[in-house]
Amino acid sequence: MRTRFAPSPTGFLHVGGLRTALFAWLIARQTKGRFLLRIEDTDQIRSVEGAVENILSTLHWAGIDPDEGVMMRKGIMAQEGTKGPYIQSQRLELYQKYAEQLLQNGHAYACFCTAERLTQMREGQMARKQAPMYDRLCTRLPKKEMEERLARGDPHVIRLLVPHERVFTFTDKIRGEVTFQGHTVDDQVLLKSDGFPTYHLAHVVDDHLMEIDLVIRGEEWLSSTPKHLLLFERLGWTPPKYAHVPLLLNKDRTKLSKRQQSVAAEEYIGKGYLPEALMNFLALLGWNPGSEQEIFSLAELTEAFSLERVQKAGAIFDLTKLDWLQGQWIRRLPLAEFADRLQMLTAERYPEAAHDAHFSEKAALIHERVTFLEEGPDMLAFFYVEPKVSVELLANAKQKVTKELLTTILKLLTDTLGKIPADAWTTDTLKEKLLAQAKKQDLSQGQILWPLRAALTGLPYSPGAFEVAVALGKKTTLARLEGARAVLE
Ligand code: GLU
Repeated sequence: MRTRFAPSPTGFLHVGGLRTALFAWLIARQTKGRFLLRIEDTDQIRSVEGAVENILSTLHWAGIDPDEGVMMRKGIMAQEGTKGPYIQSQRLELYQKYAEQLLQNGHAYACFCTAERLTQMREGQMARKQAPMYDRLCTRLPKKEMEERLARGDPHVIRLLVPHERVFTFTDKIRGEVTFQGHTVDDQVLLKSDGFPTYHLAHVVDDHLMEIDLVIRGEEWLSSTPKHLLLFERLGWTPPKYAHVPLLLNKDRTKLSKRQQSVAAEEYIGKGYLPEALMNFLALLGWNPGSEQEIFSLAELTEAFSLERVQKAGAIFDLTKLDWLQGQWIRRLPLAEFADRLQMLTAERYPEAAHDAHFSEKAALIHERVTFLEEGPDMLAFFYVEPKVSVELLANAKQKVTKELLTTILKLLTDTLGKIPADAWTTDTLKEKLLAQAKKQDLSQGQILWPLRAALTGLPYSPGAFEVAVALGKKTTLARLEGARAVLE
């Protein structure tokens, strides 16, 4: 299947847009088809510089690069494929040609109504509690007057003539059979007075010429679909299939909004979410696999995804779930990759981390504990800066480590560890020797491990004492224990 993502370059890429792109990409992958990227920039006032590059880099980050259309090639924006151009502002003549054809065939008409008149009309309709729609004043213009005004070049738009008696029924891949009454469908503007098409005309022309088989787009376009189907019919073309994906909702079931949370994909990238986590999360917004499985890579999604399992109801954007998935995906990163990424981040704060040959052993200690890579440098700080240790931290009522006992415990630690040769400095040996010694002196495991960990890290929470001691090495371990003893005195 040929599917497409057709964003308007009006700023950031909305997470809902990214989900739509993902669904379209998945269907193309599943069917060994093609995923196109088309830029819908016919609203020139709303187009924003740099927005296309941002869309492309976000898709690339997400792992769903387009196969055809607008794409990045060696860092430069390019267009690839035989059905281009893929940027609507470069296709204006095509839209004008088809608008003209519709006009000639009587399926569209010129409308000269001014913005003021349309506003007045709309206000009147709203006051009468009618749905606002064009009242067709211009269809009643005498033919001669119409022609004169066109010849004079009076500003006008081209509108689609919708047969009011028609009933539009179509099958949406997500919503099933959908019906709209013709008299509720507005005579849509197809071509604006500046010669630019509206979305409605432009995307129909493009979806046809670009041979799109399936249109996946947001639910907000569902009610416009009758106009689009009518356009396909009037132009003598076969329409694609449609799938309208459900809205994204805030927790309180209102439409996902900037006021309640970030809606720009780039904000999630900036916050340090992994692409795997965000895409896994977006896939589950509206789609369910019909099984207990929750973790899906793009490859697994390609296997499992189906539009039939996408719900009609809005999907709640639950950040708790996203963070959970993020944690899952961080842990799934192979240690080497996790360590590499973390080493770069850590070196920004502690430059010596850049040359630390044992960095990956340190990273391994926190792999299970971080949700965001950004938390890593703080957790590893004690490896690179001398920890601040206090008596309050070394003692611990819960572990029955009283201040009075601390001198004995720290001595035990220093003496026992001091006797372990550097080449036997492993967690197993440390554990064996320390626990044996503790037992001899009638101390519990907690009573020796808490002060050891606290002395080595200066933190109330950290990876386990043996692992930290091994990662620090014998020399530093003993030095830090000395430091703790000095604090006691
Ligand atoms: N440019 C439209 C939008 O950004 C595309 C809708 C569609 O996919 O047809 O909403």
